[in-house]
Amino acid sequence: MIRATRLALPIFLLAAVFGFGQTNTPPSQSTQPASRAAASQPFDVNAAVEAYLAKMPPAERAKSNAYFEGGYWLTLWDFLSTVFVMWLLLRFRWSAAMRDLAAKITRFRTLQTALYWIQFMIVTSVLTFPLTVYEGYFREHKYDLLNQTFGPWMRDQLVGLAVGVVLGAILIVPLFGLVRRLGKNWWVWGATFMVLFFAFVSLIAPVYIAPLFNKYTKLEDRQVKDPILSMARANGIPATDVYEVDASRQSNRVSANVSGFASTLRITLNDNLLKRCTLPEIQTTMGHEMGHYVLNHAYKGIVMIGVVIFIGFAFLNWGIYYALARWGEAWAIHGITDVAVLPLAVVVFSLFFFVMTPVTNTITRNMEFEADMYGLNAGRQPDGEANVDLLLGEYRKMDPGPVEEFLFYDHPSGRTRITAAMRWKAEHPETASPEEMARRLAFNAQ
Ligand SMILES: [Zn+2]
Repeated sequence: MIRATRLALPIFLLAAVFGFGQTNTPPSQSTQPASRAAASQPFDVNAAVEAYLAKMPPAERAKSNAYFEGGYWLTLWDFLSTVFVMWLLLRFRWSAAMRDLAAKITRFRTLQTALYWIQFMIVTSVLTFPLTVYEGYFREHKYDLLNQTFGPWMRDQLVGLAVGVVLGAILIVPLFGLVRRLGKNWWVWGATFMVLFFAFVSLIAPVYIAPLFNKYTKLEDRQVKDPILSMARANGIPATDVYEVDASRQSNRVSANVSGFASTLRITLNDNLLKRCTLPEIQTTMGHEMGHYVLNHAYKGIVMIGVVIFIGFAFLNWGIYYALARWGEAWAIHGITDVAVLPLAVVVFSLFFFVMTPVTNTITRNMEFEADMYGLNAGRQPDGEANVDLLLGEYRKMDPGPVEEFLFYDHPSGRTRITAAMRWKAEHPETASPEEMARRLAFNAQ
């Protein structure tokens, strides 16, 4: 999907609402290599973790590391390219020209704001396109992470742009209304409105936006559906259907989610998960997703990110006044109520969220870890979990340093997740396979 920086925040929030996870299955189905570690002692957690990490071939690991570490730099390049494009719009008064054009077309200010926004989205999408196409198409292909040819990929970009135009207008037009009406204190209500906007988007996205990119069908396979629905009932989730989404249209990444509420509540698995994973692996993944739902992560995420957004708006207000006092005239911007100020606002807001990256990452990473814990307890599939963690290692570096994980990871690393799974396994001998149980009993008898 579209990766432009201005949409990074909504997408980030959506990521907090979507997710992936874990589940439950009879213990006999989990016979995994970690049991090799049991030869010398009852269950050595560290040896089991190392055994799993060693399953990833060195070449694959190098590729995954290179892909993920490149992503650290892309965060910086995305930010710098946004700043550069916005600077062009201000410095050469293109932003002022777009405002003047909108004013020529209509005398209604609300409509002028909307018309400016459409021009702004088209111009910035074109100017950032070289980076977008490198990042989202060529680079993904280079690492074998994209299944799309250029045509369908471009189609998704255009749909993303259309969604951005519509959703952005719903955000931007009222924001400028607030600025014009409230004066100095606009940012308090602006932040409140933005938080509500995100709540609204995360609510409608699974049902109204996601289907613009992928096809959702009801999963009929009872062998998969029944255990998932059983698990949902056991965890108090009132779902009656399981949906399958054709994520393989874009990539081979495995994923699932539990989204919406009341009539929009749905459990969705992607076809990659169905194709590439065993039932215990699917179950542990669903346990994780159900954890997000039961633990109310969508709402908690909105509250926590809401705090960040409030601070961001205070900074935005200060930053805009600071820059306008210096360069407002040179850029032909008539104050904060002038829609032509938007590129400046984007620079200030992007700077804030760029600096806040470790904070927002930590907010989601902690919720992801909670969902992992929930999934282990609900799914009781520590080996299934470890195997899924290895699959996710295709695009997320498995074994980072602790500072690296703190700064750059919006999900726990493979090592952290596998360690949690093996620790859980060590404390739940009843979930071990019969062979493993025999080995442990023999050891205890010595
Ligand atoms: Zn998750």
